[in-house]
Amino acid sequence: MPVGGESGGAGPLARIAGTYGGDVISSWIRGSAMADERAGGGMAAGGTPRPITLYGDPVLHRPCAPVEDDHPDLDRLVADMFASMYAADGVGLAANQIGIGLRLFVVDCPDDDEVNQVAVVINPVLHLPQTRDLVEASEGCLSVPGAHSLLARPGEATVTGRDLSFRPVEIVGTGLLARCLQHECDHLDGTVYVDRLARRARKEALAAANLAGANAP
Ligand SMILES: [Zn+2]
Repeated sequence: MPVGGESGGAGPLARIAGTYGGDVISSWIRGSAMADERAGGGMAAGGTPRPITLYGDPVLHRPCAPVEDDHPDLDRLVADMFASMYAADGVGLAANQIGIGLRLFVVDCPDDDEVNQVAVVINPVLHLPQTRDLVEASEGCLSVPGAHSLLARPGEATVTGRDLSFRPVEIVGTGLLARCLQHECDHLDGTVYVDRLARRARKEALAAANLAGANAP
């Protein structure tokens, strides 16, 4: 699912060819990344994969709570998040996708230069450019498995927050990473990407994931 160079269309919406697999790693990333590069920068050590929550689970449809700096066993939670993300071939995972309603996410996702950004961001704040230029690309989510839908989003995004030691951290994303940062911040606000789709497209995506009966509570 490489991002191609095909662009076009007048007006503020630029369509590009290619796919962002949402939380799902794409084949070209799988092909280019060595196993030791996808080790969570050491933060995945000892982690245990946990089941991924599916659309319709209430924890995905309400805002997550801020993380206190004395939260117990945060190292273990982050290791389990990386392990869960890698086990599911993901490039990003929000805590509520393993049933934990706390504001943090992990990413191991390439930017426009195909350099993987590996990070945990605690209490992230999303900053978007003041532009009406959006990039439309196919997007998916581990919590809506097997479905992909076109979704327009800003092509750049910045996230500020805290790292695992609660030091300030900032990630500037372009390309896939920009989409990933927005997707994961959405999760922490209780929004799954299909919630941003028109009603019919949302129905189709949920049906493709065998979640046709699932509704956001
Ligand atoms: Zn997702």
